[in-house]
Amino acid sequence: MRQGLSEDLIARVLGAAPKYTVAELEEKFPPRNLPEGALVTRFAPSPTGYMHLGGLYQALIDSHLAAQSDGVFMLRIEDTDTKREVADAVQLIIDSLHKFGIEYNDMPEYGPYYQSQRKDIYRSVAAELLRRGLAYPCFLTADDMEKIRAEQSAAGFATGIYGEFARDRDITEEDIIKHLDNGEVPTIRLYSTGNPNARIFCKDAVRGSIGFPENNEDLVLIKSNDGLPTYHFAHLCDDHFMRTTHVIRGEEWLPSLPLHTQLFRMMGWTPPMYIHTSTIDKIDEETGKQRKLSKRKDPESNVAFFLRDGWPTTAVLEYLGNIAASGYEEAKLKGAVKSFSEYEIKPKKIPMSGALFDMKKLEWWAKESIGAMTVSDLVKSVVDWANEYGDEKHKMQVADIDYLTAVLAIERDNPQRIRKDFITWRQTLEIVEFFWDELFVPNTEYAYNTDVLRAFMETFNIADDKDTWWNKIVAIAEKFGIKNGEVAMNLRVALSGRTNTPDLYSIMQVMGKDRVIKRIEGAL
Ligand code: GLU
Repeated sequence: MRQGLSEDLIARVLGAAPKYTVAELEEKFPPRNLPEGALVTRFAPSPTGYMHLGGLYQALIDSHLAAQSDGVFMLRIEDTDTKREVADAVQLIIDSLHKFGIEYNDMPEYGPYYQSQRKDIYRSVAAELLRRGLAYPCFLTADDMEKIRAEQSAAGFATGIYGEFARDRDITEEDIIKHLDNGEVPTIRLYSTGNPNARIFCKDAVRGSIGFPENNEDLVLIKSNDGLPTYHFAHLCDDHFMRTTHVIRGEEWLPSLPLHTQLFRMMGWTPPMYIHTSTIDKIDEETGKQRKLSKRKDPESNVAFFLRDGWPTTAVLEYLGNIAASGYEEAKLKGAVKSFSEYEIKPKKIPMSGALFDMKKLEWWAKESIGAMTVSDLVKSVVDWANEYGDEKHKMQVADIDYLTAVLAIERDNPQRIRKDFITWRQTLEIVEFFWDELFVPNTEYAYNTDVLRAFMETFNIADDKDTWWNKIVAIAEKFGIKNGEVAMNLRVALSGRTNTPDLYSIMQVMGKDRVIKRIEGAL
């Protein structure tokens, strides 16, 4: 500890007098009145204009842990890096969560939820640390720090502002006043009393208790350029006063845990329970090795990719859910639960490394998820996607909803035998393209048996029921001494241009008499 600063000086180094005492903040943001065992979680993205799949994974865990315990899940925008901010980046986060159906509660009492609007809170807590001699104003310039760093590197010391290198650690009030009178604006640094030869034990729900060397760096709490907090200090203030019980964040924050634990202890506050999530990995196509998703190389690292290509958002979430709670898939296959929302996540079991996200596996989840949809939900998803992300062709396909509904209803009436070839909304529209004359591509390679096609035309009646229709096909096969399947194949290719389609009778019923005749005539 050092000598605490006077109130006047605190106001001067912070640029304004603190608005609250810590006691007032405690009263303003009281412990939440929630049922026993309720978790309070938050997703705390920095608005960078990009939402990583790993962020969605964390938000899913956040919202799920809160929901399953009747707790609260908040969205907090960490917009303290004014240099990095991208316009519309916040909206992108909100829209992405919304599109994936992840809902958060805004509770005005515990807000504001933008860090840039919480300056009064940070300043008030910083004032308390300055008062108690646990923080100090530091007037080192970028040049000074560069020199210190070079000196440290040359001598083989750890770089950073600590111990003897922290020039202003024990700065006197007189010197502070001199700097201020000189127009200098200080950063506020932690006055660290940690001893790197001693260990601090920190808790992570998955990893248990982890021993780290104590932190001895005088880390920046409040930046000089904009008066905004660093991540570390904002985390302390926000997760305490928002009464977060569980912090779910990426494993890149694990090394900061001793510092965060130190900060909470200094304030006499109980730290939240931490869950550091693994990176989301893939198997590299070239090396065959598992590596983390790369923002540069892997389009699927960006959640926008799944929206643009029309992956069912439930499938993406179910798959991510199964990564977080690996027993889910089995429980679902057994019929014990219908959807991930019914399955319990156990914080202890969230994987601490190597969470693999495989696009092939996602296809399986997508097929399952589309297979379980009602026709009207399927149609709605496809239409919504086409209108937002589709091109002219897709938009044309969804213009006549009744026709689209009839097309997509094929092979969906028997729950035991629902077609499972739809994966994305884009691909769904693409595999049914042949139903639209504008998109139909006649098959000119196929060697049609024209006698068979003519014979079919002679007896074709759209009003036939399925048995009558089939009997006619059998009769044609007999007449020409060929297999039933060959007759059907001639018709299938004439109608769709393809050798593989769902049920042929249904196709004809949906296409209607005129279109069927036109297609067969075309083939002839
Ligand atoms: N803004 C931090 C990030 O984007 C949040 C980490 C956390 O959840 O505490 O990584």
